[in-house]
Amino acid sequence: MSDESEPGAWLRPEDIDCPHCRAPLLRLVRSPLLDEWLIYCDCCARRAEISYYDPIVESMSAENTPEQLFSAIEARLRVCSCGGRFSFSASRRCPACLQIVIHGPSEYDLWAGHGIPPDRDPTPEEVRAMEEFEAEFIRRSALWRPEG
Ligand SMILES: [Zn+2]
Ligand SMILES: [Zn+2]
Repeated sequence: MSDESEPGAWLRPEDIDCPHCRAPLLRLVRSPLLDEWLIYCDCCARRAEISYYDPIVESMSAENTPEQLFSAIEARLRVCSCGGRFSFSASRRCPACLQIVIHGPSEYDLWAGHGIPPDRDPTPEEVRAMEEFEAEFIRRSALWRPEG
């Protein structure tokens, strides 16, 4: 299964089960080809998706080191709907039971459900499940708190 010639094998996808509640999960290296960060909540399984080209990020990036940029982004992000804070050093939590599965910070992202085999297309049910997961767990709007 981990044949390096498989498409996407370099992301080292691995089906795992939550060690706490046995929910099926997919662990995947964050692709360096993507041009956004997923910044995880420190209390739940939600994450904020922040483009490298977001105008707020661009306004911060000029004079800052990467470390300064990361803390500036964290400070400007709205709190999660659970009340937690989005942080580059947050752990990866199980979406079902919210317990920590991978102690952060991590090169891995964590998704609900086992991976789709590369030799077939996702079923309509699997597509719907992914869309529901994204709607629930990925924040893509109302990301920033007002300045000041
Ligand atoms: Zn769990
Ligand atoms: Zn949260």
